[in-house]
Amino acid sequence: MTEIIDGNEVAQDIRNGLLDSIETLTDAGTTPCLATVLMNDDPASETYVSMKHKDCEEVGIATRDIELDPDTPAEELFDTIDELNADPEVHGILVQMPLPDHVDEREVLRSIDPAKDVDGFHPENVGRLVAGNARYKPCTPHGVQKLLAAADVETEGAEAVVVGRSNIVGKPMANLLIQKDEGGNATTTVCHSRTDDLAEKTRAADIVIAAAGVPEMITGEMLSEGTVVIDVGINRVETDEGSELVGDVDYDSAKEKASAITPVPGGVGPMTRAMLLWNTVKAAGDVAGIEVDL
Ligand code: NDP
Repeated sequence: MTEIIDGNEVAQDIRNGLLDSIETLTDAGTTPCLATVLMNDDPASETYVSMKHKDCEEVGIATRDIELDPDTPAEELFDTIDELNADPEVHGILVQMPLPDHVDEREVLRSIDPAKDVDGFHPENVGRLVAGNARYKPCTPHGVQKLLAAADVETEGAEAVVVGRSNIVGKPMANLLIQKDEGGNATTTVCHSRTDDLAEKTRAADIVIAAAGVPEMITGEMLSEGTVVIDVGINRVETDEGSELVGDVDYDSAKEKASAITPVPGGVGPMTRAMLLWNTVKAAGDVAGIEVDL
């Protein structure tokens, strides 16, 4: 029987687990607060941001919602970030990507106070993650770690294959898997578009984490019997009825081979959202000098 790893359920457990910490912090006068900055008019980004606000409200995290017109000069965005950096009531800052062409995304990531960088993309936080001393684990790979733990998947000594090497998913995922920590100690191969014979790599894996952004590219044929399959991909594809969301894994054929698999939607997506709340609570705890039980 293939285990279907339910991301909605695990994410709900994570949110429930944060409630006590949020109450402790709020009672001590530090209500965790996440500020979002949206500077594009892409409907998908608007939806992501509004979902993040809703998630925060549900668990008692305060929010600030800043929207800038896409034509706003870059300096104004940097001034906004400076103000949020200086605001003691704001603990986490998230600048929604993508940004307009006239704004340098790297410069924006560098301008966020690393202590408030709850996405974990500031170079200081990337460095800390690589050095095995993470302050904030990036939300999607952290969520994958939690899913693996919830499904009792042993990473130590396992052969893990990460398909994708982006800065937000593939690279931090691989870094977490190789750390000498719980949820790490895996022998990890990172694959990408120039990888020769991807199927050979995935067939040799105990755990496959697909984050390529290519609809249904990992098929059952590319997997060995008993592989754990985590599908990070979210791809909208056209169908006869309109459109639907699919992952990077061909779910039906992969499920025939996998010992455990995440669905899309309802797998990694909800975890990414839950881990943002986690990082925001951690940020508030660090400021308050209160070690919160996460
Ligand atoms: P990117 O496009 O930034 O990176 C994709 C990576 O996959 C690249 O490293 C690319 O290689 C590699 N790749 C592309 N095609 C192939 C191929 N045919 N074979 C092997 N590797 C390939 O995407 P992201 O990392 O941002 O996102 C990946 C997917 O995850 C997307 O579907 C995205 O929507 C989804 N996502 C889901 C989240 C969630 O919460 N569930 C959060 C974030 C992303 P190369 O470097 O050589 O170009």
